[in-house]
Amino acid sequence: MAPLSRFSLPALVLLVFFLHSEASDAPCLAMAGTCQDDHEPCEGSFITGHCSGGSHRRCCVAPSVIDIGDGVKIYARDSWGAREPKQFQLFQKPASLFFIHHTAGHSCHDFDTCVTALKGIQNFHMDTRGWDDIGYSFLVGQDGQIYEGRGWDHVGAHTLHYNTRGYAASFMGNYMTHPPNNASLNAAKKLIEYGVSKGFVSSTYHLYGHRDVSATACPGDALYPIIQTWPHYSHVKP
Ligand SMILES: [Zn+2]
Repeated sequence: MAPLSRFSLPALVLLVFFLHSEASDAPCLAMAGTCQDDHEPCEGSFITGHCSGGSHRRCCVAPSVIDIGDGVKIYARDSWGAREPKQFQLFQKPASLFFIHHTAGHSCHDFDTCVTALKGIQNFHMDTRGWDDIGYSFLVGQDGQIYEGRGWDHVGAHTLHYNTRGYAASFMGNYMTHPPNNASLNAAKKLIEYGVSKGFVSSTYHLYGHRDVSATACPGDALYPIIQTWPHYSHVKP
């Protein structure tokens, strides 16, 4: 008799189940979701096939588009067709720092052109720079909307030495000679307020421009003086 046939079929099924379940929550975690029983409440929507366990254990992911007030929405990764990260590190919330950047690239004024810009930035960061994902936590369009980059759950690659302590929002466009429009400035402020209200960002956070901690012109000569007037801007280095 072959050795395997000494095990009963139910025992084999259980063995395979346990071996399989060890790592198979990973697809859900990669989407910043939570594996849970689908009878329990989920603020977003359930996705099947991303969690270990029985058929009722499913991946709860945040809604694709979150309205954060004043006409500002956060477009989640799936809504703009982001690529999956190569790998990721979970962010230990809450963040004590928040950084403002500009992409120094193209600005965008509607959803379609912002999606094109986002995909270009993500491809550049992942393929040319060799990073695991798009670098910024969030990106801000001149359409006055927020686009999720690495989001609240994953450590970004935006501000050397500070990525595990802070999030970053990057204004898409180059703001050396002219500032971003008011809609986008308002959107970035709403994003930070929303992060504080959800406990993702500490209520005692410090706000900085990228140039405050690095030898760079980022976030641009025209944007930098504006963020210095915002709540929580700190002249003291982190
Ligand atoms: Zn920067």
